[in-house]
Amino acid sequence: MSEEKKLIYLDNAATTKTAPEVVEAMLPYFTEMYGNPSSVYSFSQKSKEAITAGREKIAKTLGANPEEIYFTAGGSESDNWALKATAEAYKEKGNHIITTKIEHHAILHTGDWLEKHGFEVTYVDVDEFGKVKLDELEKAIRPTTILISVMFANNEIGTIQPIKEIGEIAKKHGILFHTDAVQAYGQLPINVDELNIDMLSSSGHKLNGPKGIGFLYIRKGVKIRSFIHGGAQERKRRAGTENVPGIVGYGVAAERAARTMKERTAKEIELRNHLIDRVLAEVPYTRLNGHRTDRLPNNANFSFQFVEGESLLIMLDMDGICGSSGSACTSGSLDPSHVLLAIGLPHEIAHGSLRLTLSEETTLEDIDYVVDCIKKIVARLRSMSPLYEDFIKKQK
Ligand SMILES: *Cc1c(COP(=O)(O)O)cnc(C)c1O
Repeated sequence: MSEEKKLIYLDNAATTKTAPEVVEAMLPYFTEMYGNPSSVYSFSQKSKEAITAGREKIAKTLGANPEEIYFTAGGSESDNWALKATAEAYKEKGNHIITTKIEHHAILHTGDWLEKHGFEVTYVDVDEFGKVKLDELEKAIRPTTILISVMFANNEIGTIQPIKEIGEIAKKHGILFHTDAVQAYGQLPINVDELNIDMLSSSGHKLNGPKGIGFLYIRKGVKIRSFIHGGAQERKRRAGTENVPGIVGYGVAAERAARTMKERTAKEIELRNHLIDRVLAEVPYTRLNGHRTDRLPNNANFSFQFVEGESLLIMLDMDGICGSSGSACTSGSLDPSHVLLAIGLPHEIAHGSLRLTLSEETTLEDIDYVVDCIKKIVARLRSMSPLYEDFIKKQK
């Protein structure tokens, strides 16, 4: 009889499994308490209360006020909103925005759009580990700079940015500071006051919550235009009937992530380090991308010389392993990852990259199995590579 196929899911930076307690909390808001939160009858009060509770749960995890949390349809919407709507609101003050070369496309492509609409955008460099160069960032500031947007942690190589220092620079110069914290929220402790964050983007499905729900934290006093025009939802700043089940699920996921953070990330760091140590020791001509220690607890990113990342992924898939060769958004295109190029990797090395992102369910057995598969597959792919053959001949 057919054996159940092994599935080892190591692509948690792309999306995560919705936690059972999250699904359970959401279900009644599809079936029983489906009222529109904006309606006046008491049946709808339950929906309204659920939104309030979700908002409070999330605000608490960030040290924010509930009125500063605005629900959106996810990370991309929050990023678009933060950039476009502050640009619009502050255009009397200036037209210059600073961000980095390694942001998610939700930021980079919004930057491109703003450049076509009269704004100027500076994309600051990062060092070989993917850390923003603070001196370059500060030098990029002009009298017309209205916004600095730097991601909290990178979705491909996991590097954590010096957010506190960036917040201080922004504050010193009287410039707004936005951070895309989609990867960091739920994995790292974040306090918006301690870090001088004015706006923060997050997305439910990256921390065991549902897909299609996110929020933008907007500090009280920040001028921002509404992004979706229509009804008076979200304090008139984001129209549209609220995603009540999504908000309920997100609230539970956020609370759960905060509660389990310490233990979960300690375990992930241990397994992640075991993965990195074994791969670097046992697979020759391999490098780790990103920072050795200032990286997301669950992230590992490797480049294997003389290997095509896509071929590696396909062969890993045959062994039941889900990984990524870059970000899910860029796979399918043949351009190497903009993040790997920004840290200085040549194209041919960037092409042979693999991102593995763990979850709380990942075990030591999973990791050892994955490393064994990587060793076997990389050796096989190299044995078919004329470049590798030449290289080995020259070594002799
Ligand atoms: C996933 C991700 C996004 C996009 O979030 P969605 O909810 O999928 O739109 C934005 N930024 C980063 C860093 C991400 O990892």
